[in-house]
Amino acid sequence: MKDCLFCKIINGKIPSTKVYEDDYVFAFNDIEPQAPYHIVIVPKHHISSANEINAENSIYISKIFEIIPKLAKDLGFDQNGYRVINNCGKDGGQTVNHLHFHLTAGRQFGWPAG
Ligand code: 5GP
Ligand code: ZN
Repeated sequence: MKDCLFCKIINGKIPSTKVYEDDYVFAFNDIEPQAPYHIVIVPKHHISSANEINAENSIYISKIFEIIPKLAKDLGFDQNGYRVINNCGKDGGQTVNHLHFHLTAGRQFGWPAG
């Protein structure tokens, strides 16, 4: 998608610190980390939010969630744990309209979330 920030990151038009990439998934460090590890994981196909997940594109979601435990293990926070977040829409706090999951780790997170 032409004007999408994360599509531009995926195709290299905007630089990012890439953590992982395959045919379905692109992952990079968040520019404003909220934890010692803060990785943004996105499908390499433009899906604007969780509202747009369906039977045709859900392969991207399973690929993302297959990668999460691998990244956790590779980066060494699988045993301590981590938090995966999706913000959807205005009330969810979504600021970039390309579906993404925040993989955060390296400190303890409170619950209930604010
Ligand atoms: P949202 O608020 O939509 O759930 O998350 C968007 C995330 O993208 C935010 O955590 C924000 O810091 C991150 N972000 C926004 N612009 C950029 C950018 O240009 N590069 C990187 N690496 N992260 C970005
Ligand atoms: Zn996009």
